[in-house]
Amino acid sequence: MPLIVRQFPCLSDNYGLLARDEATGKTACIDTPDADAILAELSALGWGLDLILNTHWHPDHAGGNAKLKAATGAVIHAPPEVEKTSSIDHPVKAGDVVALGETRFQVIDTGGHTLGHVSYFDAEDQIAFVGDTLFSLGCGRLFEGTAEQMWASLSKLAALPDETAVYCAHEYTAANARFALSVDDSPALKARAEEVFEARARGEPTVPTTIAREKATNPFLRAGGAGRFAELRAAKDAFKG
Ligand code: ZN
Ligand code: FE
Repeated sequence: MPLIVRQFPCLSDNYGLLARDEATGKTACIDTPDADAILAELSALGWGLDLILNTHWHPDHAGGNAKLKAATGAVIHAPPEVEKTSSIDHPVKAGDVVALGETRFQVIDTGGHTLGHVSYFDAEDQIAFVGDTLFSLGCGRLFEGTAEQMWASLSKLAALPDETAVYCAHEYTAANARFALSVDDSPALKARAEEVFEARARGEPTVPTTIAREKATNPFLRAGGAGRFAELRAAKDAFKG
C-alpha cells in the first residue's frame, strides 16, 4: 500500500515532511525544522508520530528532535553526526533499511553538504527524501565535504528511477533557476524555469520534483564529472542573481 506524503512550509524556506504508511497508519517525520509547526500539522491530520528520520545535523533539520520526541515518543533514526546537537535512538549508515509499517526506506550515503548526510529512498513507492543534497535545479552547499564527495552523492541520486518523486528540504527553486539560466541555455531548462517562476508567483511549491526532470534540467546533475561540478558549485556560491 502506498506511502502518503504531506508537505508544508516551515521556517522561512524549509519544508516540513510527514510520511504515512497507509497500511498501518505508522507515520514518520523527515527532518524536524520546526517542532511546533510539525505538531500542529499532526494534530490537524489526527496523526501520531512513530519515527523521526534525520538527513543531517543542521538545526533546520534536527532542531525539533527533542521537542517532537518528548511530545510524541517518536524514535529517532539519524546519521551519527546528529549527536553533535541532539540525542538519537538509532544511528543509520549507508545500506541500512528503516521500516515504517510495511514501508522500507533504504539509507543512501549522500555526504558533501555535511559529511554524514543521508537520504531515504522508498523503492516500492519511488519516493526519495534528499535533505540538502539535491534541490530542484540546484544542490546543497559544500559546508563539510568535497566536490568529489558531493558529485558521487548526486550521481547516486541520479541513478534512482526516473519517476522517483524527490522531496527536497527547501524551496530554493526560483533562485536556483536564475543561476541555472546563467550557465545553460537549453530549451528544457528555459521551459522549466518559466514553470517555476509562474508557480512561485502563484505561491505554489515547486517540490517535489522528479529524477527525470532534474537529470534534464539541473546544471549540477548535468555537470558530467566532479571537476566541472566543482566549478559550477563555486560559481553558484558567488552568484549575485
Ligand atoms: Zn543543511
Ligand atoms: Fe537546510
